[in-house]
Amino acid sequence: MSARDWIDKDFYRELGVSSDASDAEVKKAYRKLARELHPDANPGNADAEARFKSVSEAYGVVGDPEKRKQYDEARSMFGGGLRGGFGGGSGFDFGDAFGGQQGGFTAGGGGLGDLFGNLFNRAKSGGGTTARPRRGADVETDVRLDFVEAVRGATVPLRLSSPSTCDTCHGSGARPGSSPKTCVTCGGVGLVSRSQGAFAFSEPCRDCRGTGRIIDDPCPDCAGEGVNTKTRTLTVRIPAGVEDEQRIRLAGQGEPGRSGAPAGDLYVRVHVTPHPVFGRSGNDLTLKVPVSYTELALGTTLTVPTLDGVVSLNVAPGTASGRVLRVRGKGVQRRDGQSGHLLVTLQVTVPADLDDDARTALEAYAKATATHDPRPELTALVQKARQS
Ligand SMILES: [Zn+2]
Ligand SMILES: [Zn+2]
Repeated sequence: MSARDWIDKDFYRELGVSSDASDAEVKKAYRKLARELHPDANPGNADAEARFKSVSEAYGVVGDPEKRKQYDEARSMFGGGLRGGFGGGSGFDFGDAFGGQQGGFTAGGGGLGDLFGNLFNRAKSGGGTTARPRRGADVETDVRLDFVEAVRGATVPLRLSSPSTCDTCHGSGARPGSSPKTCVTCGGVGLVSRSQGAFAFSEPCRDCRGTGRIIDDPCPDCAGEGVNTKTRTLTVRIPAGVEDEQRIRLAGQGEPGRSGAPAGDLYVRVHVTPHPVFGRSGNDLTLKVPVSYTELALGTTLTVPTLDGVVSLNVAPGTASGRVLRVRGKGVQRRDGQSGHLLVTLQVTVPADLDDDARTALEAYAKATATHDPRPELTALVQKARQS
């Protein structure tokens, strides 16, 4: 989050509390909103999900007494006025405003955003500051299943990458055996002052990229960042009957928590590749079976595929086109007993062209059935319309 975002955002309004609400009131308001907006309670609702994130972000700041104090101070100082110029001619200095926080900046790149960002993430960076218990972040990942795997359930290996403290240098960024030196330019503060007219600014030191430290001999495993990416493999059991775009929550499989706090959750979003002939309707499988007119008129026995073999279906003489036959127990077999069936839809196909014998036979058939009206209700309406 950049400083601008942060000051422009009204975290109190996000939580629906006043800026002098007690910690208990903030907590209560957050819990209520989190329950209402939780993705589990609002599947597929993007608005609720966005609100849930905003509310979580707001509570991440206002719900933490120390961060809340800093947020209140920054708001009273800048009052959303960062965009509109500093006005008034009274200079200010970020270094003073956040005195005592120096030396904790670890990200490079510069800019006020980093300054604020690091202020609020410093529990994460370790760097000698006291890390307080913090729940691990939720992680979302995607998995693709084919149709049959989704119906039957599958065990899939997931490779997850997440940043974590470098084991080689324990986060210092320096090659083991060496240690970072204090930056001479900024005296280890990570900030340098710059004057522009009446204003005095502090900006991150360019020599040490705001870290306050110079690493002559960077750690080979993290290139001096103190953080590298770890990959872990997790075997996930996807239950039978999972639907396309469904999100599965695996509690406690997200990023690890800090200082004994619980881990975040892992959300696995499932993408299902369609099957060339079978479809899904909840726990039922669907299958369209083309049949000839004579098969429906005279009756027949059809052999159709299921996901695990074949099944024979009796079609009674005079069966209508579009009729759905149910094959019990050949749908999704779920453990909770909510199992489905195979629904077979019979659909008449008409031959695109006929050979002479077939044409002769059909013409004879048409003649034999000429007195039969297949659409008496419509014929009646047509006659009525003509008479009036
Ligand atoms: Zn390292
Ligand atoms: Zn420096």
